[in-house]
Amino acid sequence: MENCIFCKIVAGDIPSPRLYEDDKMIVIRDIEPKAKLHYLCIPKTHFALLSEMDGERAELLKHCFERIAEIHSSLGLEEGYRVIINQGENGGQTVPHLHIHLLGGEPLKDF
Ligand code: 5GP
Ligand code: ZN
Repeated sequence: MENCIFCKIVAGDIPSPRLYEDDKMIVIRDIEPKAKLHYLCIPKTHFALLSEMDGERAELLKHCFERIAEIHSSLGLEEGYRVIINQGENGGQTVPHLHIHLLGGEPLKDF
């Protein structure tokens, strides 16, 4: 998707160190961390919203959550973490390429 910052990161047009990568997703550090550890799990395929879900995208997100479950300890999240997917304007979504926030590395405040 043209002009999508996460598509550019996935394509390597904007350099961003990858803590994990496979054929379907990457994990990078958030540029403005909201917790001691703040990662973004970014599917390599562009879509913005859960409301655009279809079978293929559901499989893609299943893959992402399975990998997160496997790799969270290697990211320093073994004591627990928070998973956030912001959706749309009221949800605070600023990048319209669906992504999964992983926050942790310290006890997180209630929200
Ligand atoms: P959203 O607000 O859409 O749920 O999350 C977008 C996140 O992407 C924000 O937490 C923001 O800090 C992060 N972000 C925006 N641009 C970049 C970037 O170029 N590199 C990285 N690593 N994170 C970014
Ligand atoms: Zn995109």
